[in-house]
Amino acid sequence: MPLSKVRQPMPEQCPNERRRNFSEVATGYPAETALIEANRCLQCKTAPCRTGCPVEVDIPAFIQLIRSEKYEQAAQKIKEKSSLPAVCGRVCPQEAQCESHCVLNKKGAAVAIGRLERFVADYERNQGTTKLPTIEAGNKKVAVVGAGPAGLTAAGDLALAGYKVVIFEALHKAGGVLVYGIPEFRLPKDIVAAEVEYVKKLGVEIITNVVIGKTLTVEDLFAQGFEAVFIGSGAGAPQFMNIPGENYNGVYSANEFLTRVNLMKGYDFPNQHTPVWLGKNVAIVGGGNVAMDAARTSMRLGAEHVWLVYRRSEEEMPARREEIEHAKEEGIELALLTNPLAVQGNDKGWVSGLECVKMQLGEADASGRRRPVEVAGSNFVLPADTVIIAIGNTPNPLIPQTTPGLVVTKKGTITVDDNGLTTREGVYAGGDIVTGAATVISAMGAGKRAAKAINEYLAEK
Ligand SMILES: Cc1cc2nc3c(=O)[nH]c(=O)nc-3n(C[C@H](O)[C@H](O)[C@H](O)COP(=O)(O)OP(=O)(O)OC[C@H]3O[C@@H](n4cnc5c(N)ncnc54)[C@H](O)[C@@H]3O)c2cc1C
Ligand code: SF4
Repeated sequence: MPLSKVRQPMPEQCPNERRRNFSEVATGYPAETALIEANRCLQCKTAPCRTGCPVEVDIPAFIQLIRSEKYEQAAQKIKEKSSLPAVCGRVCPQEAQCESHCVLNKKGAAVAIGRLERFVADYERNQGTTKLPTIEAGNKKVAVVGAGPAGLTAAGDLALAGYKVVIFEALHKAGGVLVYGIPEFRLPKDIVAAEVEYVKKLGVEIITNVVIGKTLTVEDLFAQGFEAVFIGSGAGAPQFMNIPGENYNGVYSANEFLTRVNLMKGYDFPNQHTPVWLGKNVAIVGGGNVAMDAARTSMRLGAEHVWLVYRRSEEEMPARREEIEHAKEEGIELALLTNPLAVQGNDKGWVSGLECVKMQLGEADASGRRRPVEVAGSNFVLPADTVIIAIGNTPNPLIPQTTPGLVVTKKGTITVDDNGLTTREGVYAGGDIVTGAATVISAMGAGKRAAKAINEYLAEK
């Protein structure tokens, strides 16, 4: 049979229904579709796809196992490198990573590696057959700060290496952005919970409601007998535009808005007693995944108009293409080449509009992207009653401020070497706290590298 140039489409809820519910948008490949897609793989000896994966999953090997209908073994193969396959299969930017290296790009579309990963991870979870590796437990203790993808991965790998690992998490639930940021319709919370359970089954203890830098310091952790510390505390502090009117009622940071909806279950009101206030006309400022999630969440909470205000054109939007397409299908209006100047408010202090100006693209700037320039006199007002700012996050300074010897960059990220070692002996860091806001898989890659380095450090100690 000739090789199909197109990949198998992902079954999805229809846009008209899903725009008002929080159920997962993409419903996943059935086995017969996964088999057809897996059979498109050429099983290249050089496996260029693998070079695009930050945790080096053996992609051809797991796809070959799907072709032999050995789905559980395929899931095990992925888990040799990644402890969060059901998460990565859903939210990794595969199009920019493994799939961008697939040789089939030259002949049509890359193998849908992410969809196949999701298929086997879901299959294994639904069968309830997750196998645990045998671990030889040692006595040395390692502390991990933060239960996001970086911390969970480092903890999982260290537990596999025989360490007693304790994760200290500030919030009441483990998962980091996977639970408080990414919405249910893209990443159901029971899937994150199942993957957190797997890490716990490896022997990792997770203590929630502990803020390192307040409840305990890194010094306290060493005093308690931990011989190394991995910091994976993310980049959870929101950035604002510093434009007039940002203090009116009805202005949220995307972080606050999404945390209220996700972690505090605002999406399940009135079943949960935690409503989230939202107007009818919502303007989201930004063009990344966070902006897209805030926009689509607003639509699901009942907004009539949702505008995504972005100062460049659609081509430059940092969000995943798939998410932009999904957002447009759900009725999100893209206000492109548009920059906010001021939030307007009424005499009661509530948002009444967002004053914007039109932009045009000029010469390329240092990032290689064309610089947006104001079109003089093109000011106009979007009649928004809610404004959500989603222009990026920075690291919370608490840990660097309370840990002597840690060097940070001007952006507040922790300085580390290639192995994640900070400027303080025995203290390692990785994920968004080092790179600034990035991706789940890059945080996991950093967690893995640091776990390896910690293992080597403690073996020599
Ligand atoms: C809305 C949103 C959507 C996104 N969508 C995608 C996507 O589709 N694909 C993708 O790849 N990436 C996406 N990202 C980015 C991705 O989620 C992050 O890059 C990734 O989660 C970083 O992992 P991390 O472990 O470094 O940090 P986090 O996930 O932020 O986890 C850090 C953890 O540390 C805890 N913590 C912080 N300070 C302390 C302290 N002092 N003491 C104890 N615990 C502490 C936090 O509570 C948190 O649980 C998105 C991000 C957001 C906000
Ligand atoms: S590059 Fe593409 S075709 Fe080749 S092994 Fe990887 S997934 Fe298969």
